[in-house]
Amino acid sequence: MPTSISSKRIAIIGAGPGGLTCARILHKHGVPVTVYDQDAHEEARNQGGSLDLHEYDGQLALREAGLIEEFFELSRFEGQEMRGIDPHSGQVLARHLPEEGEAGAPEIDRGQLRRLLLRSLTPGTVRWGHTLESVTGPDDGSRTLTFSNGVTVQADLVIGADGAWSRTRRAVSQAVPVYSGVDFLEAWFDDMETRHTELAELVGEGSAMAGDADGAIFAQRNSGGHMRVYIVRRRPVDWMAQHGLTPQDTEGIRALLLKDFADWSPDVLRMITDNDGQYVDRPLFVLPAPHDWEHSATVTLLGDAAHLVPPVGVGVNVAMLDACELALAIRGSESIDEAIRAYETTMLPRSHKLALALDGRADYLLRDDDPEGMQDPSDLLR
Ligand SMILES: Cc1cc2nc3c(=O)[nH]c(=O)nc-3n(C[C@H](O)[C@H](O)[C@H](O)COP(=O)(O)OP(=O)(O)OC[C@H]3O[C@@H](n4cnc5c(N)ncnc54)[C@H](O)[C@@H]3O)c2cc1C
Repeated sequence: MPTSISSKRIAIIGAGPGGLTCARILHKHGVPVTVYDQDAHEEARNQGGSLDLHEYDGQLALREAGLIEEFFELSRFEGQEMRGIDPHSGQVLARHLPEEGEAGAPEIDRGQLRRLLLRSLTPGTVRWGHTLESVTGPDDGSRTLTFSNGVTVQADLVIGADGAWSRTRRAVSQAVPVYSGVDFLEAWFDDMETRHTELAELVGEGSAMAGDADGAIFAQRNSGGHMRVYIVRRRPVDWMAQHGLTPQDTEGIRALLLKDFADWSPDVLRMITDNDGQYVDRPLFVLPAPHDWEHSATVTLLGDAAHLVPPVGVGVNVAMLDACELALAIRGSESIDEAIRAYETTMLPRSHKLALALDGRADYLLRDDDPEGMQDPSDLLR
């Protein structure tokens, strides 16, 4: 590798799947890098649901990272099962059972994936408790990163992997995420095999969907006997406040949901009402499509920071593919500018295509023209 690259100070903002994959592949090729994340420590917040990593993007990146075997050991191949349930009768209308050896998209918990990537880095690579405030300095010179804890750092390359509300993005683009009009309300279930046996039987080992034109649910089994359900509706972004509710008012939210889903089968309603703990509101925001920016010689973006689209099961996969391609471009280039140009030449057209295919489609689960209720979101990308 040219010393013009190995002597550069590379800062990645965000220790999500994208940022950590990029750090790992750079690390594997001997390129020094520091990752900054706002979380106080690795386990500071629940990382969220289960992810299926596809062989042609997420797995490809893990292969390049030298972590594919460990991923296969951790992942749940049975999680590739998919069911479509009729919301009104509670009948399973369609079922995909993974074949023996099927490895196209095994499931892994987000927390497991983060730990896998973190363990592969030299201790100290990630600086926790560093919330980026701003990136300043000349486009073609040393950049100054200012963090809310008062720390400032100089960097020759700033990689914004800081997700939907990226602060790095502001250095290259004026774009901000806008509300899609669709809300995902998350419900969490513990001890599925002992406390929610009927639901475990209805959902199976992987994912299950049920929905009509007004509402939908998407259930995902997680490791450790847990299940996560997203309850999907078109709502105003402040729907809770409009109903005089707060996220802590579990009983109040439940009563509203029972009204909203009054004509659904009691068997399916259990996924909406029998959850353990509080609901978590996740209104879906998206970046205007397509999102583009003027090339900068010292700042680039990957993952949700570059292209925030509705969750159709590709976000993490594409973030990891971006990360892999950027890391390989850095390793193979004579200068940072050349590396960013090579990366963006592939990444931007791909992300534009994705964003345009999904533009205005955040409500893709709310359909009454799919009797089996088992819409494959990747159809939206064809
Ligand atoms: C409800 C829901 C369900 C989803 N389900 C799926 C799914 O099943 N499959 C799938 O592929 N995708 C899914 N997605 C999309 C997926 O979550 C994202 O596309 C993916 O996490 C993007 O990865 P990333 O590394 O770019 O960003 P993130 O995962 O958002 O990571 C960003 C990191 O940056 C850090 N950070 C943020 N701001 C700062 C700052 N100012 N300073 C320092 N650090 C900062 C954060 O702490 C975080 O660690 C879902 C999204 C939603 C909303």
